[in-house]
Amino acid sequence: MIDMRVQNGREQAELEQRRHDAQREIKVIGDPMLRERAAEVTSLDRGLRKFAKRMVRIMHDAPGIGLAAPQVGVLQRLLVYDVDDDPQVLVNPVLGGFSDEVEEVDEGCLSVPGLTVPITRPVRVQVRAADIYGDPVDFFADGLKARVIQHEHDHLDGVLIVDRISTEEAS
Ligand code: ZN
Repeated sequence: MIDMRVQNGREQAELEQRRHDAQREIKVIGDPMLRERAAEVTSLDRGLRKFAKRMVRIMHDAPGIGLAAPQVGVLQRLLVYDVDDDPQVLVNPVLGGFSDEVEEVDEGCLSVPGLTVPITRPVRVQVRAADIYGDPVDFFADGLKARVIQHEHDHLDGVLIVDRISTEEAS
């Protein structure tokens, strides 16, 4: 998911270069990989930890607040997000406990450049996953964090924001 915050404090030219490099690594809509269901992660080894670190770097440079492994061409159930300057990795995330309360918010996606669309999602969700060391995590997320996790989780099932655009008819 795209970081909508205004960037400041860093050299614009360097930012542009890093954004360019990061975006080259991210698959865009039309690539069939974005439409596949990613497989469960079965081995949490050093290689996967290195890959997660790389994903966090790409996410930050893009700049984004979330990134799922299929977006960089790896069909495994792993996502990263960072909504409060504290990057997190979720392995094999399972979502549940969706709140009845929903909210419509504009979303952008690093894999769908140039498009920002209103999407209605539950405001609160329960997340069960493993962290990057394989330890179980189980928590409730709300607000932006809940939205980013749901957006990235969609990528693991081959779902993109163009599939979820809110319409007057649907509400
Ligand atoms: Zn996305």
